[in-house]
Amino acid sequence: RERDYSMMLRTRIPGGHVPPQLYLTLDRLADQYGNGTLRATTRQTFQLHGILKKNLKATLASILHQMGSTLAACGDVNRNVMAPVAPYKNRPAYRYAQEYARKLADLLAPKTSAYYEIWVDGEPIPIPPVDEDVLVAQEFVGHGVRLEGPEPLYGPVYLPRKFKTAITVAGENTVDVYSQDLGLIVLTDRKGSLKGFNIVVGGGMGRTHGKEETEPLLAQKLCFAPPESVHQICQAILAVQRDHGNRSDRKQARLKYLVRKWGIRKFRRVVEEYVGEKLQRFRPLPKFVPNSDDYLGWHEQGDGRWFLGISIENGRIQDSPTRQLKTALRRITEAFSLPLRVTPTQDVLLIDIEDRQRDLINQILKSHGVLSKEEIPQLVRLAMACPALPTCGLAITESERALPGLIRQLDRLLQELELQDSPFLVRMTGCPNGCARPYLAELGLVGSTPEHYQVWLGASPEGDRLAQVFQERVHIDQIVPLMRSLLQLYKRERYPQEAFGDYCHRVGIPYLQAQIPQTV
Ligand code: SF4
Repeated sequence: RERDYSMMLRTRIPGGHVPPQLYLTLDRLADQYGNGTLRATTRQTFQLHGILKKNLKATLASILHQMGSTLAACGDVNRNVMAPVAPYKNRPAYRYAQEYARKLADLLAPKTSAYYEIWVDGEPIPIPPVDEDVLVAQEFVGHGVRLEGPEPLYGPVYLPRKFKTAITVAGENTVDVYSQDLGLIVLTDRKGSLKGFNIVVGGGMGRTHGKEETEPLLAQKLCFAPPESVHQICQAILAVQRDHGNRSDRKQARLKYLVRKWGIRKFRRVVEEYVGEKLQRFRPLPKFVPNSDDYLGWHEQGDGRWFLGISIENGRIQDSPTRQLKTALRRITEAFSLPLRVTPTQDVLLIDIEDRQRDLINQILKSHGVLSKEEIPQLVRLAMACPALPTCGLAITESERALPGLIRQLDRLLQELELQDSPFLVRMTGCPNGCARPYLAELGLVGSTPEHYQVWLGASPEGDRLAQVFQERVHIDQIVPLMRSLLQLYKRERYPQEAFGDYCHRVGIPYLQAQIPQTV
C-alpha cells in the first residue's frame, strides 16, 4: 500500500486577484482535501496544505474548472506576478499595474499542454482569454530565433532557476519591486495615460548560511520600456537568463548572480542584442513612500464603491474558537459575490463593495470575532512570517507559529518604551531562503539553527535598501531583551521622525555591535 504522501498546492493568481467563485472553490477544497485552512502568501497567491497525493487530481480539476490555475506557481519558470492591490478607479496607474500583471503572467507562462493532459485528461476547460498584444508578442522568443518544440520561450530545459516578476506604480512599493528578478514600475502622464515602464532586474532574497557567495541583492535599473515594446523586452530578459544563467550550480543560478557577474552594463547590452534595438534610459522616479499603508479598513475606490482590507495574521485563513475568519470570508463572498485580492503582506482586500453592503459586512465580521484594523497594533499588522515548520521541508526553525507570540511581546515593549508611534517592519523566516523577504525588513529574523535566528537590521521602510547582519545566532527567548537594548538606543539617539531601520543604517552595524554585546 502506498504511503499517504501529503502535498502543498499553490495557485497562480496574477496581481492577487481572485474571482468570488474561485475563492469559494478554494475554501471548499481546503476543507474537503486540505488541512482546513487557506494560506495567503507573500507572492499574493493561496496555498492549500495537506493535500493527499490521491486527492491531487480532483483538487486541481476543481481549480481549473473555476478558471483558476496552478501552472507555473512553482518550478524553474516565471512565478506568480505581483502587483499593488488597491482597486482605485480614479488612479489609472493602479489599473495598468493589474492589467499588465495579467499580461505578463500570460506572456511568460509555459505553453505546455502536458499540464492539462495530466490534471484534467486533456479535456477542454474554460481558460481566461489572452490579450491580442500578448498573443502577438508570444511570437518573439529572443535572439530572433524561434525554438523548436512546444515551449517557444522556455525551450526544452526551462530556466536554470525560479524567476520572480512584480509590477508596481510610481510611489508605492508594497510588492518590494527591488527584490524581484524582473520588476516594472508603471509611469503615467498627468492625465493618467500610460507612458510606459521603468524596468529593474536582478533582485532576489535567497541565500545559504555559511556560503558567502550567496547573498540577497537589490534589482538594478535596466531601462525604460514604452508599452509597445515592454513584452519583447521582458521576454528578452527571461531569454538571456535562459541562455546564460548558471546551470551547473543551483545556488548561483538566479538571475541576480548573472547580473552581479556581468554588471548591469553588459547585461543591458546583451538584452539589447536579443531585442534587436537600443534600450531607452531609465526615467526619474519619485521616492517610494514607506511600506506602512497596508490598505486595511474601509477605503473609497473612486467609483462610489468601497474596498475593505482585512488583516490575516501571517496569511493563515482559518477558524479558531475565538475567531471564525474562514467562515466569515466565505459567508461574505457567498452573500455578496465580491472579488478578493491577496496583498503582498498576506492580507486580503474585498473589493467592489456597494455602500449599502457595508453594514452587513461589518456585522458578519464582528459576529465571527474578526478584529478591525483599529483593534490590531500596527506592528502586528505589518509583520510577516513564512510557513516554515511543520509544512516547509527546508525550515530550520519555527516562523509562522513563533511570530504571533513574539510580535506581541515586541508590541508591549514598544508601549513600555513609549515608542508605539514608531512601529517598524518585522519579518521572520525559518531558513535563509527568505520567502517573507526578511532582508528588506527593519528587523529581519532568519532561522539559523534550531530555536536560533540570525538578526538583520537597517533596511529602509521604503523597500529600497537591504538590511545587514547584526548578530549571527540569537535564541528566540533572547530576541525581546536584545530589542529592548536596541530600542532604548534608538529612542535616545534617533532624529525626529527617523524610522528604526533608517536609524540602524545611519549609525551603522559596527556601532550597534559595539554598544550591544553578542547574545547567544
Ligand atoms: Fe521559505 Fe525557508 Fe520559510 Fe520554507 S522555511 S517557507 S523555504 S523561507
